[in-house]
Amino acid sequence: MSQPLDTSHLWMPFTANRQFKARPRMLVAASGMYYTSDDGRQILDGTAGLWCVNAGHGHPKITEAIQKQAAAMDYAPLFQIGHPLAFEAATALAGIAPTGLNRVFFCNDGSEGVDTALKIALAYHRIRGDAGRTRLIGRERAYHGVGFGGIAVGGIAGNRKQFGPGLAADHLRHPLDIAKNAYSRGLPLHGAEMADELEQRLLALHDPSTVAAVIVEPLQGSTGVILPPQGYLEKLRAICDKHGILLIFDEVITGFGRLGTAFGADFFGVQPDMIVCAKALTNAAVPMGAVIVHEKIHETFMQMAPADSIELFHGYTYSGHPLAAAAAIATLDVYREEQLFQRAAGMAPYFEDAAHSLKGLPFVKDVRNLGLVAGVELEGIAGKPGARAYELFTKAFWEKGLLTRVTADILALSPPLIINKAQVDEMFGSIADILKGMK
Ligand code: PMP
Repeated sequence: MSQPLDTSHLWMPFTANRQFKARPRMLVAASGMYYTSDDGRQILDGTAGLWCVNAGHGHPKITEAIQKQAAAMDYAPLFQIGHPLAFEAATALAGIAPTGLNRVFFCNDGSEGVDTALKIALAYHRIRGDAGRTRLIGRERAYHGVGFGGIAVGGIAGNRKQFGPGLAADHLRHPLDIAKNAYSRGLPLHGAEMADELEQRLLALHDPSTVAAVIVEPLQGSTGVILPPQGYLEKLRAICDKHGILLIFDEVITGFGRLGTAFGADFFGVQPDMIVCAKALTNAAVPMGAVIVHEKIHETFMQMAPADSIELFHGYTYSGHPLAAAAAIATLDVYREEQLFQRAAGMAPYFEDAAHSLKGLPFVKDVRNLGLVAGVELEGIAGKPGARAYELFTKAFWEKGLLTRVTADILALSPPLIINKAQVDEMFGSIADILKGMK
């Protein structure tokens, strides 16, 4: 008989460890749209892991590329010496990025990507002799990972409060307005004027020439699927241009087909100066993140830094790691060969109808969706004895065989892009059953 699992040594991230250990939930295998639990059940993956397994689990082409690379060369550095795969991966990524965004800095995840982008922004102004631009502006309810830069520009107090003052950053209001936009389809009509707040803040509170960068998720994902109202991102772009401020899109969730296009920037038709991506870059099979930088920024470093100097003092042991680079190249091939972004765009209307079929069910206050992402905002759950949505739903979904993300009172759905109609029905059918059963 096998030994019982020793759960005493692992300190789990973003987890109520004591609660988990009292009732562990374990995944032991994954294939396509499904996980297998340790008690042998199939669990439909409604969230592509953590918004990252866009091509579905265990894609043979990606698995093979990683295995082959592990055998050929497990590791090589990228400091003053290189390996071809990192260059190939950068070329492949630049090849699907918006025009002009064609220089790639590799890191290992979204948090490092955000901190890298903020550092590039600060260094960019400084190298041009504009060192007074040190302020960073994010948004309320933004999630930009857990680095010190990311928690500063992020708009979640809970991610900061245990760690002291950290970096300073300013925050715009988020544009969610349920009173005006509940159950809207497509981009909300109301709220674009909230982008004007950037200009007001700049003029009222700061000298705009002290601001280095504004960072936003084009669609705020993990804090509740908050869509940009029509015209909102365009307005932010115009204000940043007017004042010489860099605009960074954190596309850790919206990248790689989630909205039916390579990037959210393509979907919204707004071009940032940098894109941060991670997660689905390698289909999550090996950790990797990247900042895709506009060539004008890169050129500035190349021209302004002293000859033969290191132009940017930044990097990671695992920047462009061979296994990650191999996984990224194979993943981008799979997206193209299987036309998964187009597939997501094609499935989006069916997914939208299924999501909106939850309207009128107990506890449902709003449904928001775009591409293959949906958020279901609940109310009244917290009033149930001893429970918030998080605890009730995590347990109920697990027992039902569906993986979703539950944060505060919002359910988030973001399945792999390979999902079919029967699985969309299964996903929203399970949610409907659970909501009805909770009444
Ligand atoms: N930015 C965004 C928009 C994210 O959603 C996330 C992760 N959910 C991150 C950054 C951080 O990524 P990671 O957990 O890979 O550090």
